[in-house]
Amino acid sequence: MIPYGRQEITQEDIDAVVEVLKSDFLTQGPKVPEFENTVATHVGAKFGVAVNSATSALHVACAALDLEEGDWLWTSPVTFVASANCGLYCGAKVDFVDIDPRTYNLCPDALERKLEQAREQDRLPKVVVPVHLSGQPCDMERIKALSDRYGFRIVEDASHAIGGQYQGEFIGSGRFSDITVFSFHPVKIVTTAEGGMAVTNDAELAQRMEMLRSHGITRDPTRMTHEPDGPWYYQQVGLGFNYRMTELQAALGVSQMARLDDFVKRRHELARRYDELLADLPVLSPWQHPDSYSGLHLYVIRLKLGEIRASHREVFESLRKQGIGVNLHYIPVHTQPFYEAMGFAPDDFPESMRYYNEAISIPMYHGLTFEQQDAVVAALKQALSV
Ligand SMILES: *Cc1c(COP(=O)(O)O)cnc(C)c1O
Repeated sequence: MIPYGRQEITQEDIDAVVEVLKSDFLTQGPKVPEFENTVATHVGAKFGVAVNSATSALHVACAALDLEEGDWLWTSPVTFVASANCGLYCGAKVDFVDIDPRTYNLCPDALERKLEQAREQDRLPKVVVPVHLSGQPCDMERIKALSDRYGFRIVEDASHAIGGQYQGEFIGSGRFSDITVFSFHPVKIVTTAEGGMAVTNDAELAQRMEMLRSHGITRDPTRMTHEPDGPWYYQQVGLGFNYRMTELQAALGVSQMARLDDFVKRRHELARRYDELLADLPVLSPWQHPDSYSGLHLYVIRLKLGEIRASHREVFESLRKQGIGVNLHYIPVHTQPFYEAMGFAPDDFPESMRYYNEAISIPMYHGLTFEQQDAVVAALKQALSV
């Protein structure tokens, strides 16, 4: 089976992790801050807060922005459930903004229309979570302009987008948002097995997220409500969690980050090759914004169903049967039973449903060979011709 995504682990990665196992610290040692600095420096942000998953990073990001009961969080329906769940963790309500038919990202026109309505109904969002689907950056300039006009905060879900660029700057630079979140799950571009990071240029937000990651506890006397009782003293000043990243994960992350540029370059090489190989098939290749450099976590094709006899499901099943580990990113979140129960109907976001009915993620990862890629395309031709 050729999977849709797969980690790339070298001997250096293994050595880096083994080194930590022989060291004094397995958690809360020097590797986590080193990893935070490595990522923050690479993407051009001031602060990085490493946690045990991007899901946790989204949670502490929203909590640091004071998202709470009575507030709204908006995101795209075409994302992993975590981009929406983080709002619910904070007690807020969640709503969605339909996607742009070309980028599959949250559509700024739809966002503007929805904001206008929300203002009349006095239910403007406190936080909007644009998701850079497949690594393709959202239209951040417009989203930022709308945030200035309507007063919401922005958390970029860049789980797919580390190493990608927008208007000449790395995703995570924070030019158009408050906080950016990365995932280091094994299928993502850089891995720490499980892991995530929130980056920001705001020292206060960074400190809040650090406290939230570790029980709401501080050892910094300047943040305590009274003088420390003694040198042993720590103070819990809020309700936090245990979302800490281990030293093993951070060491793997530091080692992986050294190859980030290579990782993304290779993905672009593979994507260009797919673009050419698929050009004459009844499928739509991903559109690339001329202003942007995608992280290319995924390569999503859309079937031109009017030009083929097979159904979406038949093509998908045929590919799986031929040993191609295709996937579908994503089932629109508002159609999940848990969200449906909140009153969402599939047709609330028609562009997302059109996408869902046509999309297939085909294999895209660093170690994918040209031969394997040819096998994917041959299998796709077969699947499309039935
Ligand atoms: C993978 C992913 C997440 C969650 O990442 P974890 O590190 O597994 O918690 C969140 N959002 C998106 C868009 C993702 O792809």
